[in-house]
Amino acid sequence: MSPHSPGRPQNRLNFSGGPGALPASVLLQVQQAIAEVPETGLSILGISHRSDWFAAVISELETNIRTLLGLSADYHVLLLQGGATQQFSMVPMSLLHGKTRPAEYLHTGYWSGKSLPEARREGPLRVVWSGEAGGFRRLPGDDELPFSADAAYLHYVSNETVEGLQFHRVLGRDDVPRVCDMSSDFLSRPCEASRFSLIYAHAQKNIGPAGVTVVLLRDEVLRNAPDDLPGFLDYRSHIETHSNFNTPPVLAIYVVLLVTRWLIDDIGGVARMDQINRQKAELLYRLLDGSHGFYRGRAAARDRSMMNVAFNLGSPALEQQFLAEALAAGFSGLPGHRAIGGVRASIYNGLTLAAVEELAVFMEDFQRRHG
Ligand SMILES: *Cc1c(COP(=O)(O)O)cnc(C)c1O
Repeated sequence: MSPHSPGRPQNRLNFSGGPGALPASVLLQVQQAIAEVPETGLSILGISHRSDWFAAVISELETNIRTLLGLSADYHVLLLQGGATQQFSMVPMSLLHGKTRPAEYLHTGYWSGKSLPEARREGPLRVVWSGEAGGFRRLPGDDELPFSADAAYLHYVSNETVEGLQFHRVLGRDDVPRVCDMSSDFLSRPCEASRFSLIYAHAQKNIGPAGVTVVLLRDEVLRNAPDDLPGFLDYRSHIETHSNFNTPPVLAIYVVLLVTRWLIDDIGGVARMDQINRQKAELLYRLLDGSHGFYRGRAAARDRSMMNVAFNLGSPALEQQFLAEALAAGFSGLPGHRAIGGVRASIYNGLTLAAVEELAVFMEDFQRRHG
C-alpha cells in the first residue's frame, strides 16, 4: 500500500461515500475505549446506558453540538436511531399527518427522492422543483422556486451525497418551517442552524459511525403533532428521556462525542473546518477543470459539493481501470454510488488535505499514462 505511513491506524485512505473516514486520533481513542474506558475500568461495549458516565457523554455531546453551531436554548438536541431514512418518515408523521396544507419538497437527487414516498404516505405533498429530467446535474436557482406561504413546511437535502450537489445558501421563506436533511454535510461548515425548525443528520458520513442520528428541533414545530404516534417514533418521547428512551448505541454516540471534541479542540470549529474542506474540494475540482476533458465533473460548477466530488472518465472501461489502479495504490471507496456509477471522491471532515493531495497526484499520473 503506497499511502501507508507509521502511526496511521489503517492501510488505505478512505474516500467512501459512507460510512466514511474518521480522524486518526479518534480511531486511536476508540481502540483504547474498546479495551477500557479509564474512568470506568470497563470496555465501552459493556457500559450501561443508565450509568452516570454515559449521562455525562450525552450531556457533553449536546453541549458540543450547541457550541459548534451556536444553537440557542430553544432547540432540542436528540440522538436517535434508524438513520436518516427513519427521519424521512418521522418528520411527516409529526408535521404532516392529518394536515390539509401540503408540505413542499425539493427533488434534487437520490436521497431527496427517497424522502418523497415516505412523506406522501402521511399527507399532501407538493414537489416544488425536480431535477430528475436533467439527470440531477444541477440545483435550482431562487427564480425556479415558487415557495408558498401556507406550506406545512419545506423539506430539502442540503448535500446530495450521490450526485455531489450542494446548496450554498439557505432556501425557503422565513414564515414556513424549514426542515433539512444535512446527513452528508453536518458540522462540515457553518449552517445558520437558527433558520431551521428541524435539522437531521445521521453520523456515518461526517461525524461518526452508523447507528446514531442527530436531530435538532424547536418545540414549536411539534405543537400540532398527533398524540397517537408510536412512542419510539414520537420526538417527545426522546425529548423527555434525554435521548435514553430505550437502549441507545453507546459506542456510536461516544465516537460522535470524540469527533465533536476533535472539531472544537484540534480543528477550531466549523468555520475553520469549512476552510479546510474547501481547500480539499478546490484541489480536486481544479484538477478536473484542468484535465482537458479527461476527468468530467458531474455537477454544474455553481452547485458543486464540498463533500462528494463526483466525476466520469471517457468510457466505462477507463473508469474501471481507474478504480482498479486507485484501489491497488491504496485509495478505497472511490466507485460512484450504485445508482449512477462513475467515480466519487468523498472528502468528509475526517479525511485530511494530505490524503486528497495524494489522490490528486495519483489522478495526474493516471492521466499522464492514459490521456
Ligand atoms: C446516506 C444518506 C441518507 C441515508 O441514510 P441512512 O442512515 O442509511 O438511512 C439520507 N440522506 C442523505 C443526504 C444521505 O447522504
